[in-house]
Amino acid sequence: MKFLCVDCDKQMAFEERQLPGDGTLAATFKCPTCGRVVAMLTNPMETQLVSSLGVEIGGRTVPEQPFETVRKMVSTGREDAFEEGTGDGGRGKGTPAWSMDAEARLARVPNFVRGMVKRIYADYARERGIAEITPAVMDMARAELGLEGM
Ligand SMILES: [Zn+2]
Repeated sequence: MKFLCVDCDKQMAFEERQLPGDGTLAATFKCPTCGRVVAMLTNPMETQLVSSLGVEIGGRTVPEQPFETVRKMVSTGREDAFEEGTGDGGRGKGTPAWSMDAEARLARVPNFVRGMVKRIYADYARERGIAEITPAVMDMARAELGLEGM
């Protein structure tokens, strides 16, 4: 997969893979000109993200789809680009609350992927009608979404 730095019009280079500590896997890409770094999480919830970029994973090319939030994240590298809720499509209502324990656990996730990780758990909770995200909910989400062992 490839990312283009919009400001420099340069292809970003694959930099490293990281395990943020909550079981998700992140790959980071860096612009060789300005040093801007973007990160991408690989897990089932992000299939839509991968689709929107038209990249090839596991030998399968997925069709390109419009997904404005992702383009925004990729072009700005902002950690909170996923928290604005524009791509929700109205499939759920209300935003789940975070317990103090869950917030503390989230705080251990590196900055550059925290917004995406938070969004994954929030989507999971919303889809199941869970009003408050606790460490137990996070464990359940990880197990159910297959985020462990990646
Ligand atoms: Zn650049």
